[in-house]
Amino acid sequence: METHVPVLIAGGGPVGLATAVELAHHGVRCLVVEPRESVSWLRPRAKTTSARSMELLRRWGLAETLRARAPLAVSWSDQAVFVSSLLGREITRIGGCFGLDLTGSGLAAEPGQQVPQPLVEEVLREAVGDALLTGRQVSGLREDADGVTVRITSANGEEQEVRAQYVVGCDGPRSVTRQAIGSRYEGREDGRPNFNIVFRAPGLAERMPHGPAVHYWVLNPAQPGLAGRLDLEETWWCIAQGVREADPVRLVRNLAGADIEVEILATDPWTARMLLADRYASERVFLAGDAAHQNPPYGGHGFNTGIGDAVNIGWKLAAVLHGWAPASLLATYEGERRPIAADTIEAAAANMTTLAPELADPALMGDEAAFEKVRPAVAEAVLRTKHSEFHSLDLVLGYTYAGSPIVAPDAGERLPHRWLSPGESLYDRLGPAFSLVGDQSAPGVAGVVAEARDLGVPLREVHLPGEPLTLVRPDQHVAWRGSGSLRMALGR
Ligand SMILES: Cc1cc2nc3c(=O)[nH]c(=O)nc-3n(C[C@H](O)[C@H](O)[C@H](O)COP(=O)(O)OP(=O)(O)OC[C@H]3O[C@@H](n4cnc5c(N)ncnc54)[C@H](O)[C@@H]3O)c2cc1C
Repeated sequence: METHVPVLIAGGGPVGLATAVELAHHGVRCLVVEPRESVSWLRPRAKTTSARSMELLRRWGLAETLRARAPLAVSWSDQAVFVSSLLGREITRIGGCFGLDLTGSGLAAEPGQQVPQPLVEEVLREAVGDALLTGRQVSGLREDADGVTVRITSANGEEQEVRAQYVVGCDGPRSVTRQAIGSRYEGREDGRPNFNIVFRAPGLAERMPHGPAVHYWVLNPAQPGLAGRLDLEETWWCIAQGVREADPVRLVRNLAGADIEVEILATDPWTARMLLADRYASERVFLAGDAAHQNPPYGGHGFNTGIGDAVNIGWKLAAVLHGWAPASLLATYEGERRPIAADTIEAAAANMTTLAPELADPALMGDEAAFEKVRPAVAEAVLRTKHSEFHSLDLVLGYTYAGSPIVAPDAGERLPHRWLSPGESLYDRLGPAFSLVGDQSAPGVAGVVAEARDLGVPLREVHLPGEPLTLVRPDQHVAWRGSGSLRMALGR
């Protein structure tokens, strides 16, 4: 094991791995310390990878790999269906969920993708390669003016020290890193328990009358919850809301509405939390992902927000380590990312105010006449309260860094994607570092090119005849339009 690394990442969940991939994208070495030898197939948690995360995976050259291995193709379904039971009647449905309908769209270079979190982690683990050190955990860290000394403990209690210039704490809810820098979660926990089950149900899909869907919400008051397929074979996930302990077989059968054949593979109780770290960083240690923020899973934002953190801190660390920017650039990380986590927590908490138990109605379980009588009102309530949970592109694609000191007053938003030729997004022309997009014969070009040369910053010129100049940051956000300097965008 190396004893000196530029960056040490505590935690190899999706966010720690994404941070490592981002650093590698800029040619920066790191070490990811992760206790789990392999990914947790029976604890799939996230299933929604957002359109924005897919764009970032495309930037790393991993979007196609992930899609090719995802058991549910994006074309398979973009529907959420609300039903009386898995085998029962349909109440209503919502289409175009989670940006899954964005294939070829002018809005995003990639549609979202339904894929179990362990598969995302596996693809990222492969990309990280031998920078991932499993079977160890970070047990403490000591920061001084020149770096951070990190104590690493193996499963058998052996201890070692690694010296890093910077540490990124991606070690999840019980983050050792967060405690080490004296940061604290602020917020609250939802009172209701939840119970996840992963199960096999041979023949269930074939018997269901509802067709393909990424979510099936069961609005039976006796057993409300939601379920979906993990693959197109026999494996399913479900969440029972308001349940702490339960007979999992009984629970699945209640959601199905019949005594189906079921084999329980795993159970995973959890509680929704709305928590935000009061600070994201010390001088040399930065928090990302669930270590910094936690939100309810409704809307599918948790790790996607963390991928945004990973890219933001990753390029900035690379800029400082390569000498393009002063260390003070790193102080912009918290200011840019923390407000987005706060907005995400608020949106996810709002999604949680109306779940299956609130939408359920006993009349839905009655005879045909009783069902038809109540169905329009329940359907209306579903569409009124759940639409924004499944359609949140304003949050997913629309977040901005407006107001940050390293973007111009009218900038900070994600560079709008557009197709330049079939299958070629404007994003595909950008460089890994900064890009100057627009007409390269414009008078402002020479100055920015000279600045890049003086500072040693790689700058990709993307010629779009007749178009105004736009300086695009490594994370595809706009630093300025029209005119401006590279120095400002690097906090110099
Ligand atoms: C039911 C459910 C559904 C969800 N659905 C979605 C969804 O659809 N979309 C979405 O984006 N999010 C979803 N989430 C949230 C998502 O699972 C989390 O946001 C995500 O796992 C956070 O990733 P992370 O890498 O920050 O943290 P984690 O996944 O918690 O990873 C932290 C890592 O750090 C390691 N670690 C812990 N302590 C140490 C230590 N001391 N030293 C070194 N390593 C350590 C752990 O082993 C772990 O691998 C869902 C969550 C739940 C509960």
